[in-house]
Amino acid sequence: MTKTVYPFGGDADHSDPRQKDKTVTGGKGANLAEMASIGLPVPPGFTITVEECLRYLEGGADFRPELREAVTGALAHIEGTVGKKLGDARDPLLVSVRSGAAVSMPGMMDTVLNLGLNDETVAGLAASSGDDRFAWDSYRRFIQMYSDVVLGLDHGLFEEALEIAKEDKGYFSDTEMETDDWQALVDEFKGIVQQERGSAFPQDVTEQLWGAIRAVFDSWDSERAKVYRRLNDIPHDMGTAVNVQAMVFGNMGDTSATGVAFTRDPSTGEKAYYGEWLVNAQGEDVVAGIRTPQYLTRARREAAGAEKPSMEEAMPDAYAELAHVFDLLEKHYRDMQDIEFTVERGKLFLLQTRNGKRTAKAALKMAVDMVGEGLIDRDTAICRVDPMALDQLLHPTLDPDAPRDVMTTGLPASPGAASGKIVLDADTAEQWAGRGESVILVRVETSPEDIHGMHAASGILTARGGMTSHAAVVARGMGRCCVSGASQVRIDREARTLQIGDRDLAEGDIITLDGGNGQVMAGEVPTLEPEMAGDFATLMEWADAKRRMRVRTNAETPADCARARQFGAEGIGLCRTEHMFFDAARIAAVREMILAESEKGRRAALDKLLPEQRDDFRAIFEEMAGLPCTIRLLDPPLHEFLPQGDAEFAELSEIVGKPVETLKRRANELHEFNPMLGHRGCRLGITYPEIYEMQARAIFEAACDVAEASGDAPLPEVMIPLVGTRRELAILRALVDRVAKDVFAEKGCELGYLVGTMIELPRAALMAGEIAQDGEFFSFGTNDLTQTTLGVSRDDSARFLAQYVERGIFARDPFVSLDIDGVGQLVEIAAERGRATRSDIKLGICGEHGGDPASIAFCEKIGLDYVSASPYRVPIARLAAAQAALR
Ligand code: PEP
Ligand code: MG
Repeated sequence: MTKTVYPFGGDADHSDPRQKDKTVTGGKGANLAEMASIGLPVPPGFTITVEECLRYLEGGADFRPELREAVTGALAHIEGTVGKKLGDARDPLLVSVRSGAAVSMPGMMDTVLNLGLNDETVAGLAASSGDDRFAWDSYRRFIQMYSDVVLGLDHGLFEEALEIAKEDKGYFSDTEMETDDWQALVDEFKGIVQQERGSAFPQDVTEQLWGAIRAVFDSWDSERAKVYRRLNDIPHDMGTAVNVQAMVFGNMGDTSATGVAFTRDPSTGEKAYYGEWLVNAQGEDVVAGIRTPQYLTRARREAAGAEKPSMEEAMPDAYAELAHVFDLLEKHYRDMQDIEFTVERGKLFLLQTRNGKRTAKAALKMAVDMVGEGLIDRDTAICRVDPMALDQLLHPTLDPDAPRDVMTTGLPASPGAASGKIVLDADTAEQWAGRGESVILVRVETSPEDIHGMHAASGILTARGGMTSHAAVVARGMGRCCVSGASQVRIDREARTLQIGDRDLAEGDIITLDGGNGQVMAGEVPTLEPEMAGDFATLMEWADAKRRMRVRTNAETPADCARARQFGAEGIGLCRTEHMFFDAARIAAVREMILAESEKGRRAALDKLLPEQRDDFRAIFEEMAGLPCTIRLLDPPLHEFLPQGDAEFAELSEIVGKPVETLKRRANELHEFNPMLGHRGCRLGITYPEIYEMQARAIFEAACDVAEASGDAPLPEVMIPLVGTRRELAILRALVDRVAKDVFAEKGCELGYLVGTMIELPRAALMAGEIAQDGEFFSFGTNDLTQTTLGVSRDDSARFLAQYVERGIFARDPFVSLDIDGVGQLVEIAAERGRATRSDIKLGICGEHGGDPASIAFCEKIGLDYVSASPYRVPIARLAAAQAALR
């Protein structure tokens, strides 16, 4: 029979492997058992498993009799080890009750300390400790904490009563409170409970214990825990374990202390103990900032110029023992540890150890250093760094110590941070940025026409749109920080004002965005510049040696190509040529082409675009110096290029010499109800072949030019978007081949090239065997493939997807992390069928998922040849690909 409660410490049997399995006993429980089993001083206790929490939550919040029985038995283990009994009026056992999930969620769930105190046992504690003041202070702490956590009373009421009590006495700090002051306050606290709850503070210690266990179970579903899980991609169905443990006291006078320590510096990674401690205090005092904690080591204290002694100086014996434990634990876990400890009357106890959270910079340094120290091997080092954390190193970040005035929170669409003046349209963004100002472009949602403004802006904020909305995709591509889908942003374009939450703002006001967590803040928050440390390069080099898949980039400007290559891109996986159409200098010719009544008119306009596109491709080929470049022919529906609003129509009418009415009629003709499923992708190439002809010509002419000018012959891969049938591809492939032949003949040059297709429609995936007859490569456009498979609009899903994720309908936003079960199945089918037809077919992914580690792991599993990600995600993809290969 599997156990649901595991005792630890004392003479407990720690041999059941389930007890040291985090998924069973949670991180805290597993590590307490581990520490106890290697002989470290851990106060005895027991862990109620995660499974029991899930059973409780699913079963209508009731405890099973089996659980009650097991807890009673485990409590006897604590009582036997310590030699005290819960509720004993002469010498009571006190316990702590803490949460502990498999993944650490610091501060998100509940804790109760000093449980077991009541009107009788407080006297016993006073007698056994020989310290009345300590006993009554503990009792008031317990009432305060229990009332807040278990009884759900407003803890402000208790804080207030304490403040008033101190004021009445003329005290400044809690330490001045005497025994009778605490006694009086306990009476007052009990009165508050009676008043607020309508019944007395529970005196029955067993009732106290079960109340606390219930509160910890329930705290798994608290709002703040849910939000934390959502932001950190932690599944909602994991549940938490509960740890009940004998209390030890750091507040039993000047030979007692409590503290938190890291075995290495968690922000720099430096190999030096790092931590804080307080004499005569309980753990919560360190965290809550009631008293300013002191430095752990002398070196730190001196570096900071602090007066109060370090633990190393004040308690040399306990410190020496602690330092020994640090080394032991680091060697045991082979990772940096985050440790909570208490010294009770000179004796050291360990309350927790876990792998410490760390910045990306520290993660890299520790991984590389530990290989040097022989603590871990390179493969472990590669797997230890969270690829997503590298983002922190690739974008400017907000100074973590600076205060934040958060107005609202949207989706963290593109990482980094930016402060600047609010601008409400792209032209203003460009103008203001042109005069050297930092601007934040704020839009309801962006359209491709805003690109210049997005480029000019330091950051982008949108009220609508999800993680693969236009704003998000483009911003990530540009490395611009972006917060999207911030529904509390309301814009009044006429008045040039906006509301964010309950604040009124106007164009020109300064705001700050944190693209890492979606926060929108008032005013400027200082930023820190990214720094490419040597450890970063070292680890990436190790990773590159282990990965099988290639990593390309999604880029369409020479600047992006250069950046991506600097980050290690090995080619272009997606060049979205429409971004070139939107360029301010050519949009007139594009519109002229769209508005032309005949093929002849269209060709005349396209002739004007040809040299421009050719120059673009030339610059890209030069930058990519012989690496493969997948260039996608025009994809979005034509109406996206048309003007909006009377002023823009009037302007266009001037330029093309056609009446506004005619232009509007044409725009109307092009209007679509569902443009994502409309006249776009290869459907444009089929109906307006001259567009694709021009683009193919531009590609091959540029390729010939570059091949002639430099030794590095480009390797163009011409990609046809949104193909659903073999026939579409066959027709367009013939067109591309014909143009290539013409250009090669004209230029007297012969170059290798490939023609292939994106797989973005379920039909294309299913028919991949046939389609591969005409395609030399497939690139999975998983943005559209997700949209078309799920029938969920990539631009409109933000409104409901968060709830879907919270309620476990999707584990993660499927536009961020591939829906492996559904969409992934189509990708796998297409890969298999494509290969069956053409064994050497090149397979890659170019949707946003190409930069997501979990999706990259799937790509490795099904043997894709490469992933393609926006430039700033290239290092993430390199590391994730290596981890996938190793795992
Ligand atoms: C895709 O659909 O996944 C893709 C890469 O193309 P786009 O995002 O340009 O539609
Ligand atoms: Mg697409």
